[in-house]
Order: sequence, then structure tokens, then C-alpha cells
Amino acid sequence: MTSPFELHPDRLGTTDEKGRRIFMHPADVAGFFRRWRGRTQAFLILFFLALPWLKINGQQAVLLNLSDRHFEIFGLSLRAHNSPLLILVLATAGFGLFFVTAVWGRIWCGWACPQTVFIDGVFRKIERWIEGTALERRRLDAAKWSFSKLVKRSVKWALFLIVSLIITHSFLAYFVGTEKLGTMIRSSPLENRGDFLFMLFATAIILFDFAWFREQFCTIVCPYGRFQSVVMGKGSLVVAYDSARGEPRSTPQTKSLAKVHGGKLGDCVNCYRCVQVCPTGIDIRRGLQMECIACTSCIDACDEVMTKVGKPVGLIKYDTLVPALARTRGLNSRAIVYLTLCLISISTLIYFVSSMKPLGFEILRAKSAPYTTQVQANGSIQVVNHFKIELSNQGDSDLKLMFGIAQESNASSSEPAELITAFQPLTLDRNDIRQVDVFVRFPKSILKNGQAKVRISIEDEPADSTEKINMKKEVTLVGPFS
Ligand code: SF4
Ligand code: SF4
Repeated sequence: MTSPFELHPDRLGTTDEKGRRIFMHPADVAGFFRRWRGRTQAFLILFFLALPWLKINGQQAVLLNLSDRHFEIFGLSLRAHNSPLLILVLATAGFGLFFVTAVWGRIWCGWACPQTVFIDGVFRKIERWIEGTALERRRLDAAKWSFSKLVKRSVKWALFLIVSLIITHSFLAYFVGTEKLGTMIRSSPLENRGDFLFMLFATAIILFDFAWFREQFCTIVCPYGRFQSVVMGKGSLVVAYDSARGEPRSTPQTKSLAKVHGGKLGDCVNCYRCVQVCPTGIDIRRGLQMECIACTSCIDACDEVMTKVGKPVGLIKYDTLVPALARTRGLNSRAIVYLTLCLISISTLIYFVSSMKPLGFEILRAKSAPYTTQVQANGSIQVVNHFKIELSNQGDSDLKLMFGIAQESNASSSEPAELITAFQPLTLDRNDIRQVDVFVRFPKSILKNGQAKVRISIEDEPADSTEKINMKKEVTLVGPFS
């Protein structure tokens, strides 16, 4: 008699003969990997919830404020003009992930992807708590609606909604900051209509995905799941069934053949435990499949069976795609390429970050008239040019800045050029970006062919800053030709 867990040869285990979805209720499993995955999931969930509340140098540890183009990444403060650095941060993370995949296969999917962590570590636990074991859940699915089923389903979905709201609010804190999030929670939704709609939309997506769609996302939608097959090589780790040891598996036919013709059966007792615990509904004994998210449940399940029947564990285990490579495992060529690229991007990032100046400034000519003239009481003509100075405080402290014309620019002139601004000094808080209007007034006599060059200087007031800033930039002054 065929087991009810025997999968159709040509159809996904998650669909029936009419193509309708079969909702997966993977059986509970215990063992080494289950234990460590549980601990990892608890750590990652706490990390995700706590990270936006951690501060480094008074700033949120991780903040990705897209609207203000302000990014804080573990003490590294980036603004819009630092976008090349942001690209390097993303490149480092990307190549790092490729390296991990090339060596350890789909370890990201099984151990660290938010999809797996939240479904396995939270949503399925709630479901198990309210509705019982996998068998009881399947029975409840098949049962007609009753008061008890209605209560169980209502409580379950209410808890799912609460968890989704917590996840969404934590997620939002990474983008708007915890302080703004607190204000938004306390104020009317109408005051933050855009963020409120985003929150509703994100909650709906999370509820749909983690509570209902589940591992179908991994097998049908996730682009990274597909992409990983390109990144992985023959030496990458996969969860694999040792068919040389397991086959011929113990079935009524193989047993009677062995009885009649002699011969030895393999170690697989054909109990289907590995199929029952699989969240993506596959039979790992059919070889490596795209649907396998390397969750290791089948390893624990089979180890439990092997222990019970007195055989060595490891019939299903972490192995390389080509098992012989497991014995000579070192870094494969793909892994070396990804590691090299990761190291290059991280060293470039470190170089740029360490050479970042505490103050960034650019001087732009204002869009008003190129110059204006003023006739003095003694008949001499003064020319005025209008500039805009863009400043960004990239250091660790607030700055108090003074603007001026560098001494060397005025050294040979009896009538020095002077800088006029309403911001003298200008207080620039850490991470602040400001644009200030400045005017340079100078005697017409310094112009040659209608032009002259001076250097604008910016200094901080040492008493107010730990860093001494003395920066200069040359600008071209323009005025009348004669
Ligand atoms: S085959 Fe095993 S490792 Fe892969 S998804 Fe199923 S249970 Fe997890
Ligand atoms: S759990 Fe192990 S013994 Fe049981 S069917 Fe799977 S591979 Fe065979």
C-alpha cells in the first residue's frame, strides 16, 4: 500500500491534482539542528526588534531615512552626497552574502532569512499553540465550521495581526527613526497619512505572507532563491540524502526481493518522516531540489529514526553537491572570487571612511545677477558677488564655523576683499546640512579682464569643537571689464 506521504512524481507536493494549494503543516521535529535553529531565530528576532533602539554616538545604530537621504550604519553616517559609500556598503553586504552562499549553500534561507525566521520561529509556533500538532491542524482544516473552530481561528488570526503590527512598526523604525515613530504612534493617523498608509500596507503584506502564503514565497516568488543556484558551485554545502547508503529503501517489494534473492537493504526504512517535517513539501530522497530551503528539519527527523533503529545518524546530512568534494573541502574558486570582491569593497569603504573630512563644503555661484556694483563716497567702485556655501557636518561633534577671505588672497591688495554673511558664526549640528548665502565685496581695481581669484576660508571656533577645521576653496570673482 502506498503511503499517504508518497509524493506525486510530476507534481509539487504543495498542489493537488487540480492545481489547488495543499496547505503545508510540517510535523514537529526535535534534534541538534532544531535546537540551534530555535536559538538562532530567537537571537535574530530580538536583534531585529532591539536594533533600532540602540544608539552609537547618540545616533540610531541603523537608520535608513530615505526621505531625508540620511543613513546611519553602525556609527557610519552617510548623506546624499556620500552615495558612493552607500554603494560600497551594499556591495560589501552583497558579495559577503554571495561568499556565504558559495561556501554554505542556502544557509541564509534556512537559518537567517526573515521569511523563515518569522514563519518558523513565531507564526507556526502560535499556530501549534492554538491548534495543536500537524495532524490536529490538518484535521481542523478538514473539519466543518463549528464554534470551537471559529474561536481557534479567531484567536490565531488576532495574534497573527498583533505580531504583524509589531514587525511592521519595528521595520518602520529603521526608516523614520524611533523618535519619529513614537511621535507618530501618539498622534492622529491623519497627521502622518503617508507613513500610516505604508504601515497598513506593510502589515497586510506581512500578514498575507507569513500567516497564509508561507514557504510558497520561497518556492514561487523569491528571486534570491533562484539566484542562489547560479552562485552555488559543486563544493557548496547542501542538505542531501546519502542514496548509496539508504538505497534500496525498505519497501514491501524490496523486502520480499531481498528475502527471495538475498541481498542487502539500504538504511532508509521508508518511514516518510523526512517528508512529513518538510515545510516546502518535498522528498529529499529524490535529490537536491529548487524547493529545498536547507531548513535541516529532515536531518533531525532522519537522525531520530536512525537512532531508534540502531543505525548511524547522517543518512540525510549537510554534504557538498559532489560528495567527494566534502573530503577535500576548501574554498572553491567561486567562493574565492566572492571573498576577494568582498574584501576589495570593504577595504575601499574603510579607506574612504577614514579619509572623510569632518566638514564637507561646496561653493556655488548664486543664480542672481553675476555681480552688483557700489560707488563709494570717495568715488571708488566696489563689486559684490553672491555665493551659496553648502556645508555638511560629517564629524562626531557640533561645529561653530567662521567664514572669511584667506589672508593670502588679500596680501597684495591695499583694499582687501571682504566676506559678508548673516551667519557669523554658524552653528552646524552633527549630521546637519546647511546652505548659507555669502557675499564677497571687493574693489574693482583687483579685476583683470573682469575676473579675479580669491580663496574663501572656513574655520571652526576651537573652544566649541574638538577638531580644528581650516578649509579653503578658491572662487572666481567677476565684475565689469573696464
Ligand atoms: S528537504 Fe529537508 S532541508 Fe530541504 S526544505 Fe525540506 S526539510 Fe528542509
Ligand atoms: S526519515 Fe530517513 S529513514 Fe525515514 S524515509 Fe526519510 S530518509 Fe528514509
